[in-house]
Amino acid sequence: MHRGLPAAPGIAIGKVFLLGQTGEHVHRLKIAETLLDKEMTRLDFAAAATSQEIEIIKQKVAKEVGQKEAAIFNAYLHILEDPLLIQATKDMVKRELCNTEFALQETTAQLVRQFGESTDEYLRERVADITDVTSRLMRHLTGQPAGPLSEIREEVVVVAHDLTPSQTASMPRNKISGFATDIGGRTSHVAIMARSLEIPAVVGLQDITRQVVNGDLLVIDGSTGEVVVNPDAKTLAHYRQTQQKYAAASRKLKKMKGVTAVTRDGYRLTVAANLELPEEMANAQKHGAEGVGLFRTEFLYLNQRVLPSEDEQFEAYRQVAQQSLPYAAIIRTLDIGGDKFFSPLNTAKEMNPFLGLRAIRLCLCHVDLFKVQLRAILRASHFGKIKIMFPMISGIEELRRAKAVLAEARQELLDRKIPFDRNLEVGLMIEVPSAALTADVLAREADFFSIGTNDLIQYTLAADRVNEHVAYLYNPLHPAILRLIRGVVEAAHNERIWVGMCGESASDPMLTPLLVGLGLDEFSTVPASVPQLKHCIRSLNFSECKSMAENVMKCATTEEVEATMEKFGGKVCLETPV
Ligand code: PEP
Ligand code: MG
Repeated sequence: MHRGLPAAPGIAIGKVFLLGQTGEHVHRLKIAETLLDKEMTRLDFAAAATSQEIEIIKQKVAKEVGQKEAAIFNAYLHILEDPLLIQATKDMVKRELCNTEFALQETTAQLVRQFGESTDEYLRERVADITDVTSRLMRHLTGQPAGPLSEIREEVVVVAHDLTPSQTASMPRNKISGFATDIGGRTSHVAIMARSLEIPAVVGLQDITRQVVNGDLLVIDGSTGEVVVNPDAKTLAHYRQTQQKYAAASRKLKKMKGVTAVTRDGYRLTVAANLELPEEMANAQKHGAEGVGLFRTEFLYLNQRVLPSEDEQFEAYRQVAQQSLPYAAIIRTLDIGGDKFFSPLNTAKEMNPFLGLRAIRLCLCHVDLFKVQLRAILRASHFGKIKIMFPMISGIEELRRAKAVLAEARQELLDRKIPFDRNLEVGLMIEVPSAALTADVLAREADFFSIGTNDLIQYTLAADRVNEHVAYLYNPLHPAILRLIRGVVEAAHNERIWVGMCGESASDPMLTPLLVGLGLDEFSTVPASVPQLKHCIRSLNFSECKSMAENVMKCATTEEVEATMEKFGGKVCLETPV
């Protein structure tokens, strides 16, 4: 058995379709000077054909998958228009009188090297886009037919080193039952695409392309990250059974759409959705989310070359706010830094980016940029129930500074007579231990809290959230984390403000009984987890969860915590509805 990162849930069973590396080596040929014009025209024609091809894929993706996924192809078109590609290739042909294919190969290699060595993660991630665009360009230049993906005829599991968005998009989707890749993380393009398409996927398997051959039978479990090559009859039967259970559960969970998240003894909770782009709103509604608990606004910035304008942001926030009605939409202000970089801000290379100029720190350092976003959010608040949430607050002074900038933005709108919701709630994420420990002070000056366990765990346990070597330490059930959560909930309730959770722990059904028992008022999760969470909450008894949580708080170790939860019957939330 191989283990990778679970990227999109579900079980896929099918024959391996191994996607090879594209492109053969092109040899240098000498060309006559008289042929130069012809070579230039040939390259221009190939570029135009490539651009047309990308436009078609973009439109197809926009229609079949969503605007967000389609936006990825703008980056492709930018690459194609970049003088470092076409013009540099032309210059080389003219300078060295070599064949265009060879010059394109060399220019591509140079670009890939430059981007691949960049300290900016965003730029490094563009390498796959560059090679995809240039291999299309090469294909048009040499007149080769389209790649093998469109030729898939039977149901398969696609195995690749990596998959580009355009490769994923050009596949006959009804024939693909799953994806397995050597590289990639939870937020890699293929993971995002697979989740949107609801196709099971496991990424980050390291060498799966070397472990299989075409035609092998492959089982992938996108919920656990397990991959089995040529399973024996017993293993296969086990996965087929799990696959059927999964399908039956998804069908039943669909019924959860219209129901409320209320425990058996009448304790009402809110289950909202985490969004990264406005286009995901439809998915959140489809799964019955009660509004938006976290809108990660940085994704409006990440795919762009320039900062999004106030109007562009306003449109995005207005869309989310309007579509969330009658529920609220919590807009989190920019959280760039850590593992999310944005080149135009030119953040200097840092030794410890997660401990550096990130999120609210960056915004308070670039007040003008911060105000643009705050004005856009305020303006959108006129069209729905918006709440503003500040990320990475470490103490009361920082909250006061952020609120002071917000007050200036409000005044600017008042001066310009632009309407906004004057009663808009202002809250913060509790994701830095110092904030959790001073939650009583913060609660006096905030309207709500949302606990960001993704960061709270990494900062409390000093275990990098993206480093697989310390992943064994990264545990939400560590007594230190549970004490912080309990303290935050108590502090919030003492000041009569509500407290939610929007970190990944909120969507882990194993943790739900405990989190309910600790007194959370709201859960915010990826849209696909909303039905499961509602179902789980409806099967619980709040007073029982509370007494289990009290016992858990007496535990000294993670093991004891797990045993106490086990005794309670924490598995209730893993069961499917009947
Ligand atoms: C968190 O830290 O838990 C969180 C929800 O924020 P992000 O994952 O965007 O850092
Ligand atoms: Mg965070």
